[in-house]
Amino acid sequence: MASFTLHGIPVSRGIAIGRAHLLAPAALDVKHYLIAEEHVEAEVVRLQTALTAVHRELQTLWNELPKDAPTELGAFIDVHALILSDPMISEAPLDIIRSRHYNAEWALVTQIEELSSQFDEIEDAYLRERKVDIQQVAERVLKVLMGSEPLAAPNAVNPDDDEFMAQMVVIAHDISPADMLKFRDRSFIGFVTDVGGQNSHTAIVARSLDIPAAVGVAQASTLIEQDDWVIIDGDAGVVIVSPSALVLEQYRERQLAAQRARKKLSKLKKTPAVTKDGTAITLLANIELPDDCGPALEAGANGVGLFRSEFLFMGRAANMPSEDEQFEQYRRAVVAMKGRPVTIRTLDIGADKPLDPTEHTALNPALGLRAIRYCLSEPQLFLTQLRAILRASAFGKVRILIPMLAHAFEIDQSLAMIEQAKAQLREANVKYDASVEVGAMIEIPAAALALPMFVRKMNFLSIGTNDLIQYTLAIDRVDYEVAHLYNPLHPAILQLISMTIAAGQKAGIDVAVCGEMAGDTKLTRLLLGMGLREFSMHPAQLLAVKQEILNSDLGAIAPLTRKILRSTDPDGIADAVLALQTS
Ligand code: PEP
Ligand code: MG
Repeated sequence: MASFTLHGIPVSRGIAIGRAHLLAPAALDVKHYLIAEEHVEAEVVRLQTALTAVHRELQTLWNELPKDAPTELGAFIDVHALILSDPMISEAPLDIIRSRHYNAEWALVTQIEELSSQFDEIEDAYLRERKVDIQQVAERVLKVLMGSEPLAAPNAVNPDDDEFMAQMVVIAHDISPADMLKFRDRSFIGFVTDVGGQNSHTAIVARSLDIPAAVGVAQASTLIEQDDWVIIDGDAGVVIVSPSALVLEQYRERQLAAQRARKKLSKLKKTPAVTKDGTAITLLANIELPDDCGPALEAGANGVGLFRSEFLFMGRAANMPSEDEQFEQYRRAVVAMKGRPVTIRTLDIGADKPLDPTEHTALNPALGLRAIRYCLSEPQLFLTQLRAILRASAFGKVRILIPMLAHAFEIDQSLAMIEQAKAQLREANVKYDASVEVGAMIEIPAAALALPMFVRKMNFLSIGTNDLIQYTLAIDRVDYEVAHLYNPLHPAILQLISMTIAAGQKAGIDVAVCGEMAGDTKLTRLLLGMGLREFSMHPAQLLAVKQEILNSDLGAIAPLTRKILRSTDPDGIADAVLALQTS
């Protein structure tokens, strides 16, 4: 097959070389995991048993058809029984389990997707419609499978045990942030999606997985075929399909060089992050779930600067986490961090992080009932979360961070709700840290332009550059068609960040950056020059940023930073930022 190259938006560093695994959105609804060699035959039997059960189910349905039932009904059951007996359904998925070690549900869905795309190409409209019958049969089998105990736990396979399994890259039209999170324990080595922006939450989660990824690679899921060999250059956002032996060799070398560089970086784990001139910098971790505390500590984080608590809620509209469940999760993070601060951001649901992905979305969700706006409209839900966070504060140092504040009344109402949650705990004789600090995300331009309103009442600030850029430049961070306008170095953005840091310094309160800019080594010196002393990022980025800090001299950075902040010339700014990196 001829080689071709696709271009998209780089999301996560590094080179991945593997075989394409095409993922249709429906496939995400079933569990995906790999079966260890010794369990493969048992998994085959599990699927066979489910297929037999559905046969019986159809037989019973047929037998119990009322005498006066329309004849179409019987014919309909016959068609489903025929489909079920076809080797394409009764045999092919079993082969997939054997050859690829997929779990039964995944193997079945993979085969159905393959069949569906073949049906899409059929010209005869009647036959094309039969695709629906195949999907209905598959749904019956999936239902039975889901009721049967999986034989092997997810992630039962150590990717290193099986070279083939460790070589899969996921190609999808789009992956929701919640679904992306499900890939955390799997052995995929890279991601490519057709849509998405660099700082969409899907991209952020992909980055936290620390594997090469590219988004906004238009048509990737239609042009790339199942099992194609693919190189993802996560630094450049380039995807090379069916590469030549020469290209493959070049990328393998780059991959090895990157591995060596990482190994070298890992030596910095215990080194304090201090600039050449002796200024100590705090490096914090962004986490999505308590389990991320492990990698955070491993990378030498001084604490958690952003716990995106909404990941505990996403996809659970019908079964919201209770106060106890939330408390347990927050407590786990706090205990895991062993006395280091854990900044828990209250629920930032909405926009590209819907509570229920199937629900009717607002006209313009990024500007809609998101984050604190949502929480203030659902006081019981907010109070429940606040009580859970406060209870966890009895087990270590907790800070509460409120997202998307813009109005004075939102600050006042949030603080009042925190006081109310405390009062409820006191009444119930439940312990919490009375001095828990409360901070504001500065991520709406209005907030950055009205800082006195914030510094008067808040204990700390955290700049959410992802949204600050989205809202200042009026571009949807999820929309790849405007992704080229997403520019952290736009003079307006630099002014807003610099003003926020200065206001915090003046008021004597801590200011962090927890947006993706904090983990971008190209911007480390610029942020240091603006006076930033707290950076919060995904653990995977932490050591590279630390290295940059260790090599920085604040005295040398200051004049260039001043020049950048005075400039309104985009090229001049870009050049000066480049010069800063070598200063
Ligand atoms: C931000 O907006 O920069 C931020 C850190 O929050 P999120 O990416 O979750 O919106
Ligand atoms: Mg944000």
